Amino acid sequence: MKVPEIFGSLVFNDAAMKERLPKGTYKALKKTIEEGKSLDISVANVVAHSMKEWALEHGATHYTHWFQPMTGITAEKHDSFITPTEGGGVIMEFSGKELIKGEPDASSFPSGGIRATFEARGYTAWDPSSYAFIKDGSLCIPTAFCSYTGEILDKKTPLLRSMEVMNVQALRILRVLGDNETERVITTVGPEQEYFLVDKEVYKKRKDLIYCGRTLFGARPPKGQELDDHYFGTIKPRVSAYMKELDEALWKYGIYAKTKHNEVAPAQHELAPIFDSSNIATDHNQLTMATMKDIADKHGLVCLLHEKPFAGVNGSGKHNNWSMSTNTGKNLLDPSKNPRENIMFLVFLAAVIRAADDHQDLLRIAVASAGNDHRLGGNEAPPAIISMYLGDDLSEVLRSVMYNEEYTKRKDLIMETNANVLPNFVKDTSDRNRTSPFAFTGNKFEFRMVGSAENIACTNTIINTIVADALCDFADELEKIVDKDNIKAAAEELVRKTLLEHKRIIFNGDNYSEEWVAEAKKRGLLNFRSLPEALPHYTDEKNVKLFGKYGIYTDVELRSRTEIILENYSKIINIEALTALDMAKKDIVPAVTAYIRELAETISLLKGIDEDLVPVPEVELLKKLSRLLSCFINRIDELDKAVVGARDVEGVAENAMYYKESVLGAMQSLRAVADEMESNMSAKHWPYPSYGTMLFSV
Ligand code: ADP
Ligand code: MG
Repeated sequence: MKVPEIFGSLVFNDAAMKERLPKGTYKALKKTIEEGKSLDISVANVVAHSMKEWALEHGATHYTHWFQPMTGITAEKHDSFITPTEGGGVIMEFSGKELIKGEPDASSFPSGGIRATFEARGYTAWDPSSYAFIKDGSLCIPTAFCSYTGEILDKKTPLLRSMEVMNVQALRILRVLGDNETERVITTVGPEQEYFLVDKEVYKKRKDLIYCGRTLFGARPPKGQELDDHYFGTIKPRVSAYMKELDEALWKYGIYAKTKHNEVAPAQHELAPIFDSSNIATDHNQLTMATMKDIADKHGLVCLLHEKPFAGVNGSGKHNNWSMSTNTGKNLLDPSKNPRENIMFLVFLAAVIRAADDHQDLLRIAVASAGNDHRLGGNEAPPAIISMYLGDDLSEVLRSVMYNEEYTKRKDLIMETNANVLPNFVKDTSDRNRTSPFAFTGNKFEFRMVGSAENIACTNTIINTIVADALCDFADELEKIVDKDNIKAAAEELVRKTLLEHKRIIFNGDNYSEEWVAEAKKRGLLNFRSLPEALPHYTDEKNVKLFGKYGIYTDVELRSRTEIILENYSKIINIEALTALDMAKKDIVPAVTAYIRELAETISLLKGIDEDLVPVPEVELLKKLSRLLSCFINRIDELDKAVVGARDVEGVAENAMYYKESVLGAMQSLRAVADEMESNMSAKHWPYPSYGTMLFSV
């Protein structure tokens, strides 16, 4: 296989367009893509025809608008290209109208009360900046999704809006600082995706994995991740075969799959692509997650994208590497050789710092999900407190700006390997801080709080908007200066003022420590431990104003989104609780009872042999299990009551909080007893594969 040949072979990309479209059409389409204008129907007709011909050659029979509703996954509804002909046959047709607009029934997608069911119409509209591709015999057309009345119902549209806002504000800064060449600024993202692989046969025996994507019961195995022997460990043949096929599939979709390795927990792995524009990176990440699942299935495996499939070992995240780039490819967060003198860099950096500090709430909200709540604040992922890591060198630069002190650049640190055969090399100026939620890593920010299953559109919409807002205020101030000779000094003063005001958000220490939680509180930083605590702040006045100012979300859209997320949270916990109850009542109780019965039979058999014999161990075990079982049954009852109690709690926010406090709590108490029983039972009687089996099944 030659990678360059298969790369993008399933994508109607620029090369395909150039080859197949008439020159004029190609130019018109390019203009549309680059300037973000809407497409003329006559152009669309020509594009649609070429696209269809190309798709047919690649074996496609259907087309679908591929969009990202508020469910978190992508949605598709497939129509075949067939059109009847007079003689009772068919021809394959696809019009410009069908390309640019779809009308899926929107009534069953979450809308947070925007769209009454009697007005169920929804529209999907082609996003020509993301290429169409073929998946499973269907031509997939990336689209945005909105309601009949124009409110957006998806995750792509706000992202596109936020990218445009960033472009406008970043260009203002570039211009005022003397850059007259740059035509566009785009935001870039490289999402590192973590996942678990388990054997399909093992998976099928776990209702919790099937219904919830995570285990609700399971005693700790003798071995977890304590030896650190899985991280970057040799990849097992079965996993390696899976990863190979996955890479190939992704390359065909034009996705730059680059890095793969084993992660910290047993059965945990990671895939990282090379970064791209936020929009493409988001579409590609959605496609990557779907492909991961598909390919796993072919290998007798199941890919778990849940943030916390297993208690006691690390969960999965998605590091969102973020930066801004000019159309000429200049990275605006590149500190260059001398960051102290690089005013452009300092202004953009200050904007990110201000944004993160002013909008800690939004960054936390961006990553809130029922699954991710299990991760954030545990000793593996960043805490729920937002802070930024800048590293020693950059902190030194900023200190010098803040206090008008001299900056002495650290000399290149030469790493001496002290072994003749190994070369000595220059060390990176910043070390890594793996505990920071928002870390500067050389020329980009790595936002580490994102959950593995989440659509990164929301996160990036928020990062783009809050940074654009800071840039906008900066531009307002700098544009006022009449004497252009004073701009640099004024910009530096602006950076200085911003840093002094927002330095509390910078923390280079250990984010996992208890001391940090106390320190952060002293600094007045927010600490929303869970989704129900964080989400109601989405619609705080400051946020309604912010999103309204830049046309990202209207008041109605923001409220509906908040409602959808809160409701979704409650639904997820409800499903988990019902699953736990089902497992407890139908499987666990009968299994323990059967084992107790076997013990009782053994005891009576032993007594039959010798009436005076006291079978102490069997009796003790029986008593212990019987005690646990009775406790377990009480806790089933408590969870049952907790679930029923949710019906009486009104208000989506209150309901979500109730699920967190009462239902999740009751589930945890139930689990504790089940795990204790599992530890004391024969493996033969326990109705589910153990943690050991699941984690070491592949
Ligand atoms: P790690 O954090 O694992 O050491 P790497 O340095 O390999 O990671 O980079 C992680 C991700 O960051 C990759 O997806 C990479 O493409 C992405 N990345 C690198 N530069 C940028 C950038 N300017 N903007 C966005 N993402 C970037
Ligand atoms: Mg990383």
